[in-house]
Amino acid sequence: MHDFYYNGKELYCEGVAVKDIAAEVGTPFYLYSHKTLTDHYTKLAKAFKSVKPLICFSMKANSNLAVLKSLVKAGAGLDIVSGGELFRALKVGVDPKKIVYAGVGKTRQEIQDAIKAGILLFNVESTGELVAINEIAGKLKKKVNVSLRINPDIDASTHSYVTTGKKESKFGIDLNTAEAVFLDRARYHHIDLCGIHVHIGSQITVSEPFVKAFRKVLIFMMQLEKHGTKIKFLNFGGGLGIIYSDEKPQTADEFAEKILPLLKGSKFQVVFEPGRFICGNAGIFVTRVLYPKKTQAKNFIVVDGAMNDLIRPSLYDAHHDVLAVTKNEVLKRIKADVVGPVCESGDFLAKDRNIPDFQAGDLIALMGAGAYGFTMSSNYNSRPRVPEVMVSGSKFEIVRKRESVADLIKGETIPSFLK
Ligand SMILES: *Cc1c(COP(=O)(O)O)cnc(C)c1O
Repeated sequence: MHDFYYNGKELYCEGVAVKDIAAEVGTPFYLYSHKTLTDHYTKLAKAFKSVKPLICFSMKANSNLAVLKSLVKAGAGLDIVSGGELFRALKVGVDPKKIVYAGVGKTRQEIQDAIKAGILLFNVESTGELVAINEIAGKLKKKVNVSLRINPDIDASTHSYVTTGKKESKFGIDLNTAEAVFLDRARYHHIDLCGIHVHIGSQITVSEPFVKAFRKVLIFMMQLEKHGTKIKFLNFGGGLGIIYSDEKPQTADEFAEKILPLLKGSKFQVVFEPGRFICGNAGIFVTRVLYPKKTQAKNFIVVDGAMNDLIRPSLYDAHHDVLAVTKNEVLKRIKADVVGPVCESGDFLAKDRNIPDFQAGDLIALMGAGAYGFTMSSNYNSRPRVPEVMVSGSKFEIVRKRESVADLIKGETIPSFLK
């Protein structure tokens, strides 16, 4: 469910026609619906209300300050993976006790900054990291909460680039090693090793892999408790899938229906870290047709947006629905690729699609681009990054302005020996 819909021939975001925004901000741009964002968060919070979960939005999916502020105001915490994300999180005024910090390669500086900020919990993925956190916390005379990220060796049946819970992946610690770490926890004087974390992958549309992984974790936890280890936090990660084309992903309620029975009678704080589920369908990418191009082999629609703006199709073969911002029934449908101006054959936004025979100047919307869209964008080909716009009701505001060419060379200098 989302708040992008046709009103007659015009694509709308909530109460605003997308073409009106394009006229004002130019193309390409990202467009977010405030209502869709907060609705998705609320749906999950409601579905799990009985266990009072802490829902930490995984901000690598979309770290725009307006997006974060919308969710934090609705009650969300934040899941961070870097010092830069900690900086953004603190900027929007989230309660540090609602910040959890994941990732296999936190630097000492990042660890120190996070401890000083007073975050709730580190999700740790190696003993080396435990040693580092223990030492830094000791210097700061603090005791910090740590969850161990478990690798449950579960196939999440999703794209291989976004499956993270198999034993071959770099993520987490296998159960045997994890047990040994827990039993040895007394050696880390400045760490309260009191949580278990699991995140098996992304864009998972069915509940079975989650249920399998969570069951393994719960059994593991009971084992630990027998040894006298007290578990306070059970962090089930993110990974809930969304609709990109014809997927039929579980809803928040269906997911809760499968998961809540597993949690009956439990006393720990449940944490979730959804990213895509909250913001994926809350955003679109709007681009304008430059040149329709027909070759003997193929039809191309060359647009002003490219892989540096939205890399998911190139990187994961991801599908984004291609819609006309203004429907034109006169146009026949053709099979075509939507491609950008970047000098790479991998620069496409859509491949072999049955779409209208778009003409120069037409506006195209790539749907479901709210997650891993802008955050994965780059300046490749010296293309300034595009603006982000948020709609709420009948109003819209630019929440990140378009970069200028001057921004492109910010921080660069010609060395003195070339002057
Ligand atoms: C990326 C990530 C998430 C969010 O994944 P989604 O598929 O966007 O829900 C949650 N937890 C961790 C540890 C992650 O790396």
